[in-house]
Amino acid sequence: MTEHTLFTRIIEGEIPCYKLYENEHVFAFLDINPLSKGHTLLVSKEPAPSIDQLSPNSAAAVGKALPILSRAIKEATGAIAYNIIQNNGREAGMTVPHVHFHIIPKYVESKHTFAWEPKSLDATEAETIAEAIQLSLNE
Ligand code: AMP
Repeated sequence: MTEHTLFTRIIEGEIPCYKLYENEHVFAFLDINPLSKGHTLLVSKEPAPSIDQLSPNSAAAVGKALPILSRAIKEATGAIAYNIIQNNGREAGMTVPHVHFHIIPKYVESKHTFAWEPKSLDATEAETIAEAIQLSLNE
């Protein structure tokens, strides 16, 4: 049974949207609360709640669609740059638990930032966590 997330309802036409693009695996439309003009959401049709749970086919389709949409958005808006943001989990700022990518154009006059406070990589921590992640990758 298909889970009916908010985005599934948009994909199925139950909730209106400004649709931009659709193929077998993905659907793109304008964000209802844009950070800038042309702020777009690229959504996998598969209603995976986070990217680590997305199937290889859907992941490949999203990867293929991102540059296509980004090019079109850049050309249509005249943006000088853009950010691609993808949240996973409520604690990471995800409000709709259905895999989606934000494509957010940046203009000369744009004020929005995605600044964070970087710290230096601790060598001991880096060795430990790199080893743990490599182990997980090899499982
Ligand atoms: P996130 O916080 O990463 O889960 O992003 C969810 C995004 O969905 C937010 O930027 C919302 O503005 C957007 N959103 C929520 N409802 C709608 C809707 N009905 N149509 C278009 N975008 C929506």
